[in-house]
Amino acid sequence: MAIELPALPWAKDALAPHISAETIEYHYGKHHAGYVKKLNAAIEGTDLASKSLVDIIRAGGGTFNNAAQVWNHTFYWNSMKPGGGGQPSGAIAEAIKGSFGSYDKFRDEFSNAAGSQFGSGWAWLVAEGDKLAVKKTGNAETPITTSAKPLLTIDVWEHAYYIDYRNARPDYIKVFLDSLVNWDFANQNLSG
Ligand code: MN
Repeated sequence: MAIELPALPWAKDALAPHISAETIEYHYGKHHAGYVKKLNAAIEGTDLASKSLVDIIRAGGGTFNNAAQVWNHTFYWNSMKPGGGGQPSGAIAEAIKGSFGSYDKFRDEFSNAAGSQFGSGWAWLVAEGDKLAVKKTGNAETPITTSAKPLLTIDVWEHAYYIDYRNARPDYIKVFLDSLVNWDFANQNLSG
């Protein structure tokens, strides 16, 4: 059973002007699709071909990078929505206050994690037990191999922002927080 490239949760130009259609065309249409294609080529005819994406990721080994990148990107698209960003609401707002002290302190910690990840990787808001935490991971590494439950992620590989922001990763992180974060998705993940 081949791993499929999930449809985007919004139109390719829906995040503009914050993230352009051109970025999405490359990031989804070339990078994300490329990870799916390489993963399927690698698992074809092996025991992994019958396994779920998460089980393939947890199996580790030579297919880990492509499999984890397929999962991470799907999670990233859902972490954003047109008209998103700003203050959280609902259970995630209370959990952020309880774990970080305030939204502003969460925002500082998340921005620092995303900005300080050296080279390629990801920053995450996760639930660990009854607390929330910020994590950063390198390359394809993902919290789903740990006991932490991912709630939100930002891709900080250069391919995520170079067309729109060139080398200015902090500008992209700020826009993600101010105008793109999908707090509904974080609430779903928190309660799921
Ligand atoms: Mn990416």
